[in-house]
Amino acid sequence: MTWEVVIGLEVHTQLTTKTKLFSGSSIQYGAEPNSQASLYDLAMPGTLPVFNRAVLDKAILLGLAIDAHIAPKTVFERKNYFYPDLPTGYQISQLALPIVQNGHLMIEMEDGSEKKIRINRAHMECDAGKSLHDEVYGMTGIDLNRAGTPLLEIVTEPDLNSAKEAIQYLRKLHQLVTWLGICDGNMQEGSFRCDANVSVHKPGTPFGTRAEIKNINSFRFIEDAINHEVERQIEIIEAGGEVVQETRLYDPDKNETRSMRTKEEANDYRYFPDPNLLPIVVTEEMIDNVREIFPELPEALSARLVSEFGLSDYDASVLIQSRAMCDYFGAMVKLGSEPKMAANWLLGEVSATLNQKGILIDEFSVNAEQLAGLLARIQDKTISNSIAKKVFEAMVESGETADAIIESQGLKQVTDTGAIEGWVNEVIEKNPKQVEQYKGGQTKLLGFFVGQVMKLSQGKADPAVINELVADKLK
Ligand code: ADP
Ligand code: MG
Repeated sequence: MTWEVVIGLEVHTQLTTKTKLFSGSSIQYGAEPNSQASLYDLAMPGTLPVFNRAVLDKAILLGLAIDAHIAPKTVFERKNYFYPDLPTGYQISQLALPIVQNGHLMIEMEDGSEKKIRINRAHMECDAGKSLHDEVYGMTGIDLNRAGTPLLEIVTEPDLNSAKEAIQYLRKLHQLVTWLGICDGNMQEGSFRCDANVSVHKPGTPFGTRAEIKNINSFRFIEDAINHEVERQIEIIEAGGEVVQETRLYDPDKNETRSMRTKEEANDYRYFPDPNLLPIVVTEEMIDNVREIFPELPEALSARLVSEFGLSDYDASVLIQSRAMCDYFGAMVKLGSEPKMAANWLLGEVSATLNQKGILIDEFSVNAEQLAGLLARIQDKTISNSIAKKVFEAMVESGETADAIIESQGLKQVTDTGAIEGWVNEVIEKNPKQVEQYKGGQTKLLGFFVGQVMKLSQGKADPAVINELVADKLK
C-alpha cells in the first residue's frame, strides 16, 4: 500500500486596517525601524490595549464568505512565550473562543470535481516585531513596527492530501481575502504567509505524526517544501525510524527543511484570557451590518459574466482575478459599453499598459468613464478599432478624453462614399498587376486592396465601405 499524504494549513493574513489591533500606530509597510511603535507596542507598563473595531468586521466578512459560524462571544487570550521581538512576553491571540468557527472552502480538483476543505477556525491575533540581523557588524536589531499588526489566522482541518491541493486551496483563499478587501495579499511583504503541517500514513490507519513547516512565503516554495518534507518522512519511516513532532524551517536555496524546535503543545503557552480585554459580544445586528457590504463572490460573478454579458469562460476567469478590474468593467457596461468589447479592451490594451507601467487598475490614469467614452466612438463608428488604439495611447499620455483627441487630431472615420471612392480609384490605378491577378480569379487579393486604401486614408476609411467599393469596381 502506498503512503497517503495529510496536510493542514495555517495561513496568517495581515488585515488591511490603518492602525494596529490594540494601538493607534500605523501598520504601513517599510517605514523607518521603530517609527511606528507606540508606548503600548513597546509594552511600557501602564499602557492598555484599545480594540480596533475595524478588525472585527473584516473577520466577520471572512466568516460569512466561508459559510462559518460567527461566535456570539469571542475572547482574546495571552499566548505566553519569550522572544526578543515580543516585548510583552506574550502574544494576544484567541484559543477557546475564536471569532470564526467551522467554515469551508471548495477547491477544484484536477479531474474537474470539487473538494470541500474544512476550515476549523479563523482567529484574530497580533503579529510580533522583527529581528533584523546585520551580517557586517554581527549584531541584531529589533524593529517593533510590525508588533501588534492585526492578523487573521485561518486554520484548515487536515483535509488536504497533496502539495497540489495545498496550492489550490492557498490560491483560492488568497483570491478570496483580496477580493473581500480584508488583506492586500502581498506575499513578499509577508501579508499572506503559510505554515504547512505535513504527515504521512497508510490509508485506513491513524494519522502519522506531523511536522510543521514555517513561513513559506511563495506559491512556488510551498509545493517544493511540502514534497520535500513528504519524502523526508517516508524515508525515515521506511528505514524503521519515527517522525518527531517538530517545527521545521524551509530553505528555498537548498530545497530542504531543517529542524527549528521540537513542537510545543498549547499548554506550554499557558493561554489565559487577557485581563485587560473584555470578551467581545457579537450581535446579530453587527453581523447584518457586515452582510450589507458583502460583495458578490468571484464564482458567482464569473458565472454571471458568462450568462448575462456573453463573455467566454476564459475571459470571465481572467477578469475575476481582480475585483478592481471587475468593478471597472461593470462601470463601463453601465455607461453603455458593449460588454464583449469592454472585456477585450481590458484584457488586451489596458492590461498590457498596466503591465508595462507596473501598476494596478486602481492606479490607472484612464478611468472607466473615459474608456467607455472611447468605446462609444467605436460603437457609433466615429473611429475604427485601429484608430481607437492610437486614441487610447494618446489618452494614456495626455489624460484627455477620446472626443477631444479625435477632434484635435482629425481622426474621425470617413464613411463618405465619394471620398473613399477616390482612394479606391487611386489604388486600382497604381496596381495594374494585382488587378489583373484578381480578375484572373485570385480573389484573396481583396485584402491587399482594402489594406492599401486604408493606408491611403491614414486608417480613417470605413473598412466596410472600402470592401464594398473594391469588390464592385473589380467585378
Ligand atoms: P496546534 O495547536 O499545535 O497548532 P492544531 O490541532 O491547531 O495544532 O493543528 C494545527 C494544524 O495542523 C491544523 O491545520 C491541522 O489541520 C493540522 N494537523 C493536525 N494533525 C495533523 C496531521 N496528523 N497531519 C497533518 N496535519 C495535521
Ligand atoms: Mg498552530
